Amino acid sequence: MTTPLIELQGVSRSYCQGDTTVNVLNDIHLRIEPGEMVAIIGASGSGKSTLMNILGCLDRPSSGEYRIRGRDVAQLSPDALAALRREHIGFIFQRYHLMPELSAVGNAEIPAVYANRPRQERRRRAAELLDRLGLAGKHHHRPAQLSGGQQQRVSIARALMNGGEIILADEPTGALDSSSGKDVLAILTELNRQGHTLVIVTHDMAVARHARRIIEIHDGRIVADTRTDHTPLAPPLPPGAAHPRRGRGAQLVDRVRESLHMALKAMNAHRMRTLLTMAGIVFGIAAVVTVVGLGEGAREQTLRRINFLGSNVISIYPGKDFFDEFAGSIRTLVPADAAALARQGYVDSVSPELGTSAPLRYRNKAANVDVIGVGESYFRVRGLALAEGRPFTQQQVAQATTDAIIDDNARRTLFAATGQSPLGQILLLNTMAVRVIGVMAADTNVTGYRSDRIHIWLPYTTALHRLMGQQHVNGIVVRTRADIDNAAAERAIEQLMLQRHGVKDFMLFNDGKIRRSVMKTSMTFSVLIAMVAMIALFIGSLGVMNIMLVSVTERTHEIGVRMAVGARRGDIMQQFLIEAVLVCLTGGVIGVLLALSGGALFSALAGDIFPMVTSWPAVSGAFLCACAIGMVFGYWPARNAARLNPVEALSSE
Ligand code: ADP
Ligand code: MG
Repeated sequence: MTTPLIELQGVSRSYCQGDTTVNVLNDIHLRIEPGEMVAIIGASGSGKSTLMNILGCLDRPSSGEYRIRGRDVAQLSPDALAALRREHIGFIFQRYHLMPELSAVGNAEIPAVYANRPRQERRRRAAELLDRLGLAGKHHHRPAQLSGGQQQRVSIARALMNGGEIILADEPTGALDSSSGKDVLAILTELNRQGHTLVIVTHDMAVARHARRIIEIHDGRIVADTRTDHTPLAPPLPPGAAHPRRGRGAQLVDRVRESLHMALKAMNAHRMRTLLTMAGIVFGIAAVVTVVGLGEGAREQTLRRINFLGSNVISIYPGKDFFDEFAGSIRTLVPADAAALARQGYVDSVSPELGTSAPLRYRNKAANVDVIGVGESYFRVRGLALAEGRPFTQQQVAQATTDAIIDDNARRTLFAATGQSPLGQILLLNTMAVRVIGVMAADTNVTGYRSDRIHIWLPYTTALHRLMGQQHVNGIVVRTRADIDNAAAERAIEQLMLQRHGVKDFMLFNDGKIRRSVMKTSMTFSVLIAMVAMIALFIGSLGVMNIMLVSVTERTHEIGVRMAVGARRGDIMQQFLIEAVLVCLTGGVIGVLLALSGGALFSALAGDIFPMVTSWPAVSGAFLCACAIGMVFGYWPARNAARLNPVEALSSE
């Protein structure tokens, strides 16, 4: 005796309901040979569908053995069962179970999609099957545009898509009027004649009579098994025609494209919900990009504002602190202090500094200007660049020459109209004639510099002796060596000054320290608001997860149908993940666009107060973030979907 196609040995199926177990199937023994057409008949609730689900590998027996071609089904993994369904079994359900958003062709081809058939081939086969089943011209109709009989024929096409060696039909005519029912039965009979093995479940004897063998089931037991037709069976179909294998890359591309297509359809079917979900991501991403951009803008502006604070610059001023009311009368800070500091190993460069104001005249122009007396190292200490000319030399300072360096304001006020170079021109400062030897760069900014005034630098000797008639200076600026710790240098300077003066009649002002603390504050603020934005994004992400969970619950039935026609767990997972990522990515793109256009508007309106910088790392980071959110927050719902039990999923409506 050959191995039967289907063999059940002592199969039982029971359900636990509270404390009691309900035995739905009891000790079923059944053999079905290839090419048979079997009707299973019984009253409602007798266990027909339960038996059918076990035959279709959607459900497993509680006890007993089920073999297909001698292979024990109990040993197979969920994906192996999916492969079995996909390659060998075709289902026809009472309620058709078509995907409402797909066309007839789209529905018929689903099993071939999961079997990785090339797109063109499966489209052609789907079209052929539909034509053969009398649906020519209806290829692109949605299920809602088809009659019940037509929908059932689409589902027959789907069952035949991958060969349909075994066709399991559960009340295939139950929802149809008698004439469509007859048509469907005729098709099924014809399929059996071509070699398909058919099992039809029905409660209707008129339907059962079409079969060659009628099995009667009552309260989960087989009570009769009658052969009504003894004519020889048609030669059975060869088992699952092998299909040419395609490269993994092509398979992957095709699967991702199908998933993408499905995701778009699903998103389109729930437009409002998708939009609302997206809104969370849109605003989250927009908030992150905006906040990072504003933070970066504010940081750049702060940097520009504290630019004059050199990182290694320490200034010395007279007075024991800022509130010393006698600071003005202290005369102990002298150029010799600067000279002593210059000899210290930790010092890079030093310059005395003193300031006053004086009237300036050039031709017919006159202005009251700020005069700054400096040493030859001043420009190095302060990190200042000249636009034209040269800084003072040691000799010029030593000899107190009447050379001057002017700022850009002076150049514009005095020389812009004439168009001639200021270099070599003679200006009258107070009563002293000075020669311009240099022009400072336009972006000059130092402590005490006012952009609305004209500034002129002189050798400090000249300023002291020829302009102000005093011996002491207003300050000494020190640049410490870059490789020396700033705080240690500050302590050393303090010690030296204390030694020289005997009393603490000076104070130190550490540019670097202030610069660092301002930077740190601005950084802290940026991090803080970025965190708030991240929280917004996180809440948006929770929304995505929430909606995906709802979506999985809502589409449980669809998932069941996909599993019945052979989707692997991975396929279901991929579909939902892609959907989540797609929602997040689209939201991300809109969010970034929103942030960029908002930023442009903001810059146009309030750019000087709060400039926004488009930070491309933040933008690309936002995209990655959106993808990651889709993956991470879509994972759990997708996994839930993939782990659904096919029978339970199918029976949920
Ligand atoms: P039929 O298809 O013959 O009408 P079914 O196989 O659908 O019958 O169901 C047989 C019996 O099993 C019914 O009494 C039904 O209530 C019970 N049953 C089916 N599925 C479940 C389940 N998941 N949990 C508990 N009882 C079930
Ligand atoms: Mg049933």
